[in-house]
Amino acid sequence: MDGYVCAAGHSVLEQGVPVNTPKDAIFEAVDGLVEELDALSRRIHDNPELGFQEVKAAGWLTEFLEKQGLEVERGVGGVATAFTATLDRGAGPNIAILCEYDALPGIGHACGHNVIAASGAGAGAALAAIRDQLPAGRIQIIGTPAEEWGGGKVKLLEAGIFREVDCVMMIHGFDRTLLHQDMLGVARVTFEYTGKATHASVDPWEGINALDACIQTFNAVSMLRQQVRPECRIHGIITQGGKAANIIPEYAAATFYVRAPRIDTMWELYDRVVRCAEGAARATGAGLKVTKLDSVYEPFRSNHVLLDLFGANMKSLGLVEGEPIPERQGSSDIGNLSQVIPTIHPMIGIAPLGTAIHTREFAEAAVMPPARAGLLAAAKTMAATALDLLSDPARVMAAKAELARP
Ligand SMILES: [Zn+2]
Ligand SMILES: [Zn+2]
Repeated sequence: MDGYVCAAGHSVLEQGVPVNTPKDAIFEAVDGLVEELDALSRRIHDNPELGFQEVKAAGWLTEFLEKQGLEVERGVGGVATAFTATLDRGAGPNIAILCEYDALPGIGHACGHNVIAASGAGAGAALAAIRDQLPAGRIQIIGTPAEEWGGGKVKLLEAGIFREVDCVMMIHGFDRTLLHQDMLGVARVTFEYTGKATHASVDPWEGINALDACIQTFNAVSMLRQQVRPECRIHGIITQGGKAANIIPEYAAATFYVRAPRIDTMWELYDRVVRCAEGAARATGAGLKVTKLDSVYEPFRSNHVLLDLFGANMKSLGLVEGEPIPERQGSSDIGNLSQVIPTIHPMIGIAPLGTAIHTREFAEAAVMPPARAGLLAAAKTMAATALDLLSDPARVMAAKAELARP
């Protein structure tokens, strides 16, 4: 490209003639789609669908991407609401930009996945708009269902959908912009206790109280909590606690999540939680069935090569990072991808500072003007970063080399 491009990636007048860089063209393409992207985000927001049931959202996203000239494949990896939308420019780096679009039970899009979906689609549309100026390589917008509970990305990873992908990018809405936020790994387990029902007043001594075993597990876990590192999290609920207060419960059940910043420490902690349940069952005489749920989310591994590129594009668009909050960590199935492919997951401010995710307030904020601004900025930043990676395959190699280091 002739002409001078300033450090911020904007065109600069050369001999009085404006020079339009591919990044300028990306930004213009996103700006030209403002209304469509905002409408897409709002439509998904107003029609919340739970994991693996995101039929409408997947339909609207693929329809949009197809209209923008991407080659769409629906139901990939054996997941009905997953998709890929591909821009193929021949042999070169393969860059994936992810969309999430599942909602939460009862509180709708309280995690702002409508913004993730529309910004990923916007990035794909912007890159399609400059298709002729794109260097060799492939851009894939990948629709990944059921982040909140079902591990859609894990299923797609296992099905080989990411086999040829070199780098992965996704943004998440938050109450502030953060280039990187650590995420914990999470393993989930269900405990089922079996006892013996009797009348709770007439013959209580004849019964075996399954609920007592369940409560005793919670007490043991509460004690264990003092002995674990502060960045770990253990939390659970009782899903069944008996049928009537005048019957000694013959069946009780609980589900626990065990989170830690490393895979090995997560499994060590998991084993200690299982031992709490075993001890409680032993003490009460109840039977115990332990079921490890297969949707394990691994901790997130950051990639500085990709973060540097994304950070430079963020700056050029005027996105300023907020105050770091290293202690506020969740988990995501993108963690599993980050362990095997260079991956980034920056947080983009879309809600007033202090608005926590998974609240009704965050759901409301996810369609307000700051969310719309965040959506556009995120689409531009992801598309610009994808362009940087196609333009300089050495960066892709450097990102992979970083991941390969222990
Ligand atoms: Zn969430
Ligand atoms: Zn989320």
